[in-house]
Amino acid sequence: MSFLDRILIISVVLLTSVFPVELFPNTGPVPRGGDGQFSGKQGQVVVVTVPDLREAASVKGKFLGRTVTLFPNPAAGGTGYIGLLGIDLQDEPGTHELTIDAQSGEQTRHFSYQVLVVKEKFAVEHLKLPKDKVDLDEKATARWKAEQEQVRKALAEESAMRLWQVGFIEPVRGKRTGIFGSVRIMNGQPRNPHNGEDIGAPMGTDVVASNDGVVRLVVDHIFSGRGIFVDHGLGLYSMYFHLSEALVNEGDLVKAGQVIGKVGATGRATGPHLHWGMKVNGARVNPYALLDLPFPKNPAAARPVLASPSIPSQEESTPTAVGGDGR
Ligand SMILES: [Zn+2]
Repeated sequence: MSFLDRILIISVVLLTSVFPVELFPNTGPVPRGGDGQFSGKQGQVVVVTVPDLREAASVKGKFLGRTVTLFPNPAAGGTGYIGLLGIDLQDEPGTHELTIDAQSGEQTRHFSYQVLVVKEKFAVEHLKLPKDKVDLDEKATARWKAEQEQVRKALAEESAMRLWQVGFIEPVRGKRTGIFGSVRIMNGQPRNPHNGEDIGAPMGTDVVASNDGVVRLVVDHIFSGRGIFVDHGLGLYSMYFHLSEALVNEGDLVKAGQVIGKVGATGRATGPHLHWGMKVNGARVNPYALLDLPFPKNPAAARPVLASPSIPSQEESTPTAVGGDGR
């Protein structure tokens, strides 16, 4: 081994401990980057940055079987490529690999990052409900399954264009319950975790779109009641459930802040509130994680950053919604 080879190897080792590993185009196995280059708690959104990348035709990441499309940094003065990596509330804690392929013409550049998923301590809710409210009969089960399939199909298609702009909005000003991710035990049986945030507000309060997008689905479902699904592009969806009224139709373009419905208690809800959910490339994340995304402006200062909004203390222990289906 020549002196130069040694220097090269040492340089690569040093670089991989600080930077994502970029390989020569279309070559062998992808070495791993240093541990903990990115980290996020379950249910959070991590802004993934590839600072030195310019004008690639397509930049796609893979993480735990999910595809993340990267796009030019939308922050004012920002450069490089950015991706919103959603950590699902049930992603396994530990280090997982994020691979990114950047394609321009014939050339593909590969990057590899290590993402540390940190365990979140979600609350456990014990709920006692009348038996017929928890156990679905055959007809209701069939309806629920068909509804799930309808949602799955609609959300499997993702708009190839980013429709959202920097600056997400809380859809209702009300009392945030802080029960995102809480594990529900209904009449002694564990159910799906609560996959959104509940915001208590008076019946009929305006519900606004959290960002620009296109209305994908307007539904009236057994658990979620009257609900609206907005596609913000590149696999980002917002959901608004238990509405008393939906004021938009499927296919409508909506703007951030536009009134799209009214707070209600439809579906399985014990009182008026909005269930606000967000999905990032299939990962169920805390919608509040989208409110303050840390887009880096200066690429030189771009460091792995974690969106971790402050979670208010759970002073309200009374759940405003009950759903066997994560609603
Ligand atoms: Zn809810």
